Amino acid sequence: MTEVRDPAELDAVDPLAAHRDRFVGASDPVVYFDGNSLGRPLAVTGERLGDFVREEWGGRLIRGWDESWMDLPTGIGDRLGRVVLGAAPGQVAVGDSTTVWLYKLMRAAVDHQQRTDSGRTEIVVDTDNFPTDRYLAEGIAAERGLTLRWIEPEADAGVTPELLSAAVGERTALVVLCHVAYKSAFLADGAALTRICRDAGALVLWDLCHAAAAVPIELDAWGADLAVGCSYKYLNGGPGAPAFGYVATRLQGELTQPIQGWMGARDVFAMAPGYEPAAGIRRFLSGTPPILGMLAMEDMVALVEEVGMAAVRAKSLALTAYAIELADTWLAPLGVGVVSPRDGERRGGHVTLGHPRSREVVDALWRADVIPDYRNPDGMRIGLSPLSTSFAEVHAGLAAVREQLARGA
Ligand SMILES: *Cc1c(COP(=O)(O)O)cnc(C)c1O
Repeated sequence: MTEVRDPAELDAVDPLAAHRDRFVGASDPVVYFDGNSLGRPLAVTGERLGDFVREEWGGRLIRGWDESWMDLPTGIGDRLGRVVLGAAPGQVAVGDSTTVWLYKLMRAAVDHQQRTDSGRTEIVVDTDNFPTDRYLAEGIAAERGLTLRWIEPEADAGVTPELLSAAVGERTALVVLCHVAYKSAFLADGAALTRICRDAGALVLWDLCHAAAAVPIELDAWGADLAVGCSYKYLNGGPGAPAFGYVATRLQGELTQPIQGWMGARDVFAMAPGYEPAAGIRRFLSGTPPILGMLAMEDMVALVEEVGMAAVRAKSLALTAYAIELADTWLAPLGVGVVSPRDGERRGGHVTLGHPRSREVVDALWRADVIPDYRNPDGMRIGLSPLSTSFAEVHAGLAAVREQLARGA
């Protein structure tokens, strides 16, 4: 059998290795390949939430809103913007789910375009985009009498500048793109694709769910218009933790969001007869913001800030390269193909492997405490959350995949 690199040696020289112990469950024998769907909690989050329940919620009661909670959606948003998103203050807010943020910003964007140029009647989206993004685009197109233009990327890739250029033009109102494709892990070129949209006069909305805290993001430098993303994946905010939305400062006064609730009003506690939107990013809030999940996410943002996104990305690339090395050496002879880009520059934080028996293999692995994800039609998704995954874990997990496949062969 061909040699693979020794995981113990890789862990020994990994400058971020020690951070793994800061996560709950780090010493369990479980191999966790799903931190890109639900990140592990940080131990400090358990303490922080306990303190919050006792002291802030339990002690300050309703006074907590005035004393600090009202400012958390934008305060944590600014910090997330600085550390993870490449966004200057005043452009990011936290609250709602990704799905709701997507709806609000997609609707705001197409309505704005229609007001300024009624010939812009198309929403461009790709067939490999996440289901919620595609379904929302369909719904909004039906609601507003618009049409969808579909980009069809290759299975092991994503939206390239060539594909996008061929799809946008004077009819495009909005383009909805994922920075990292949830199936293939293709990493789209944020700067180049944003430029193509803007040159066509289209607005662009970036979905950063699979990218935030895994790959470097520079929303301001790209010239992005809008963005959304989850906080329960690489941001470890916990199940159902609130998402974030980004609206570039230059657009905030131009856009009208469709769910105008009291939390987006200019003076929340005036409870005035008519709705007047708040200035800035606050106008994109709707209802009472969920505080617990955003506190958990903030702990992860603090850790990323301590380590730096460049180091996170370097570890992520090393982990995914190692997974590909093991797959090529051990699994290719068993019929497994790598369905993610081999070029690190175009690869996000996970690696998808293709095999016709993936469904059954993933089920067996879960029973054995090895936890990858299954994705239709025949993909095993190996999610490698950079700060909570070791090289030893990658080695053990892919050895388990090999064993399962060999068993059934
Ligand atoms: C995980 C994910 C979502 C999930 O949206 P929710 O509203 O949190 O369910 C949306 N888009 C992408 C690209 C995702 O990866």
